[in-house]
Amino acid sequence: MAEYEAVIGLEVHIEIKTASKMFCSCANRSGGEPNTRVCPVCMGYPGVLPVPNKKAIEQTVIAGLLTDCKVAGFSKFDRKSYFYPDMPKNYQISQYDLPFCTGGRIKLGGKGFSGRDLGDVTIGITRIHLEEDVGKLTHFNTCSGVDYNRAGVPLMEVVSEPDIRTPDEAYAYLTKLKQIMQYADISNCDMEKGQMRCDVNVSVRKTGGKEFGTKIEIKNLNSFRAVHRALEYELRRQPEILNGGGTLEQETRGWNDDRGETYLMRVKEAAHDYRYFPDPDLMPVTFTPEEIEAFRAALPELPEAMRRRLVADFDITEYDAEVICQTKPIALYFERGAKLVKTPKLLANWIISELLRELSGAGIDISECRIAPEQLAEMVGLIENNTISGKIAKDVFAEMFSTGKNAPAIVREKGLEQLTDTGAIETLIDEAITRNAPQVQQYREGNPKVLQFFVGQVMKLSRGKANPQLVVELLKRKLDLQ
Ligand code: ADP
Ligand code: MG
Ligand code: ZN
Repeated sequence: MAEYEAVIGLEVHIEIKTASKMFCSCANRSGGEPNTRVCPVCMGYPGVLPVPNKKAIEQTVIAGLLTDCKVAGFSKFDRKSYFYPDMPKNYQISQYDLPFCTGGRIKLGGKGFSGRDLGDVTIGITRIHLEEDVGKLTHFNTCSGVDYNRAGVPLMEVVSEPDIRTPDEAYAYLTKLKQIMQYADISNCDMEKGQMRCDVNVSVRKTGGKEFGTKIEIKNLNSFRAVHRALEYELRRQPEILNGGGTLEQETRGWNDDRGETYLMRVKEAAHDYRYFPDPDLMPVTFTPEEIEAFRAALPELPEAMRRRLVADFDITEYDAEVICQTKPIALYFERGAKLVKTPKLLANWIISELLRELSGAGIDISECRIAPEQLAEMVGLIENNTISGKIAKDVFAEMFSTGKNAPAIVREKGLEQLTDTGAIETLIDEAITRNAPQVQQYREGNPKVLQFFVGQVMKLSRGKANPQLVVELLKRKLDLQ
């Protein structure tokens, strides 16, 4: 057993997908020219009044219910005082002692990043609170610029208990959290767009010990993989220092992805005094038990439930369902198509082996895919009714993927219909037999492998279009007569 064990807690910020910002009517979007989505409220001009975004509060409550949290009947917004150029006001509206959600959990299960089984590991959620996002700084050679378009965007913070023990568990926790947010349509959690951001707290202690060691906070982690790597790095670095007789100080470290190292950003000075106090401009938010139960009754379907349903409704395997339900848009894509085909399992195979591969190859999202689920279902239908073979379907699929054309049109234009006319196939067989006298001789001498050779020859003569079962059947009959 390793001498040290890790204690890890994650603080994850998630931007909530709403039409407008948290306390004003500016649009909540990304991109565009800097400082074009700002107004006196999100810029903190004197005399303005914030109006809370109801949808953002509801989505936070839903996030809490989906992670088994208790939703507060009474909560409030507080002002967190700090001064930094990314903050247009001299405080950030956040929640201090009465957040919307507390005491939840996320069950990991499944396989971790390194393939290890995570069994039924459960990670506690300390709290989920709602706050406003801050602006974005860009540093140039001689000056810095600030863009306040993001300032005031509704931002949820999900704080985990220090229950995570391995980098694999941290990775799985983040994957689950993201999946939940996407399934509930709370956020797209696109880390590249900053919609999901993660701070990692990590310490080590003697295995089996009770007390926590000194924690290090790591910032600037912009992928789950970076979180995993940074943790592995810290779990080598920290024990090395302790074993060398050194001590650890509470510090904030950054992650250098190229070098694969964390580096010191700052040593934690005396605790920050944020001077939290209730925001006098905002009313407390209350929910009756009935209102909370109404939210619970209307919760969106989570991946587990969707997986079970797809297996039951469409007779696909657990594995297929697992792959298909990785992201909700793929699951919905499959569901739409599956209703239209005779053998949904065949559609699942096409999605898993061809569609997902092509999408990742082209670096695009399913939402940008030119093949609608109805179109893929139509192509599967052509395989089901023997119009085209599975092999020809690969070419049809490739053409559909690049042009968005319908399968029947491609089949017609290129004359790809499967050859099922016995007479025509027999003509090809005769040709193959005439051309390959020595192999006919071998067949007669009892070498069964030669049959496969002839199937290949006939398929080639038909340019892949002959129905393979028919070819085998007719070939046997003809060869046996030779
Ligand atoms: P802070 O006040 O420094 O922000 P918190 O108590 O709010 O610390 O905890 C922040 C995060 O750090 C939480 O996710 C928590 O689970 C985690 N955490 C707390 N103590 C430790 C520790 N000793 N080692 C690792 N993680 C910790
Ligand atoms: Mg904290
Ligand atoms: Zn605004």
